[in-house]
Amino acid sequence: MKMKKNTIQKIQQSLIRWYNKNSLDLPWRKTDAPYRVWVSEVMLQQTRIETVIPYYNRFMERFPDVGKLAGSDIQQVLKLWEGLGYYARARNMHKAAQIICEKFQGRLPNTREELRLLPGIGGYISAAVASICFHIPAAVVDGNVKRVLARLFMDATPVNDTGEKNHFETYAVKLLDHEQPGDFNQAMMELGQRICKPGNPFCSDCPVQKFCMAFQADQVGNYPVRVDRKSVPLKKMNYAIVFQGEKCLLLQRPAEGLLGGLWEFPGYEQHQQAVSGKQIETMIRRITGIRISVKEKIGTAGHAYTHFKVTATVYLCFYKSGEICL
Ligand code: SF4
Repeated sequence: MKMKKNTIQKIQQSLIRWYNKNSLDLPWRKTDAPYRVWVSEVMLQQTRIETVIPYYNRFMERFPDVGKLAGSDIQQVLKLWEGLGYYARARNMHKAAQIICEKFQGRLPNTREELRLLPGIGGYISAAVASICFHIPAAVVDGNVKRVLARLFMDATPVNDTGEKNHFETYAVKLLDHEQPGDFNQAMMELGQRICKPGNPFCSDCPVQKFCMAFQADQVGNYPVRVDRKSVPLKKMNYAIVFQGEKCLLLQRPAEGLLGGLWEFPGYEQHQQAVSGKQIETMIRRITGIRISVKEKIGTAGHAYTHFKVTATVYLCFYKSGEICL
């Protein structure tokens, strides 16, 4: 798709003008300190702004600089992250902080290439930090930006097709304002978050409405295009809350992998249709080495991860005998 230079400039100007007038007053916008911008961008991945704000403020109080984060125990970091999800983000950030202290004298590197060498920093975060903090013309492309671009240029390339990963980046790079890359990127992201929303975009408030091909063609509802994904598998899990007096048994998950290093009630995936108290007692003995008795079912809760869903059924149990043996 060819874009006229004149049109690009007008889109840039409209967007930056709108951003300067309407941008949200967010705690991480009060600074262009690379550490703070990095933390905010990591937290904002897959997470809504309103959810991130209190987590960000608590995190900054506890770990105000890279050195404090690098010198902390990972369990303290995970504790502060509790409820934010995608815990690999916290573990990667902790590892990256240690590398920054060892190899970069406690300062985030100021090139995209070096940033990308750090754990957890990929194309999106490196572009955000590089453009906002170091004024490097690198275009950010996340789900919000792709949606805006698909509508703006009425492009039917599926936004969730991983084979087309670089497709929307080409638009974003062409559109990027090289004079103000940080503000432009933030304006694009905020436009996607607040105005060009997935369901009902607020086109009447949109600063780039007159350049938007989907709007002009009355086709906004048909963009972006998405490919149908296969339905995600469902795992049935059983968990035992095992009491011994006032104490309750928790197990720590392996450091690597899903929810690595976090603590949980002992549990297992159920492959049979039905479950009995006897079966739970046997499985918990196999996992922990102790004998328990199941008193009653407490309830069932569901949760969706990116690649699968979980239904967790929780049972109230009591310790009978034996030593923990993992
Ligand atoms: S006019 Fe509507 S669809 Fe087009 S970019 Fe603006 S908000 Fe999105």
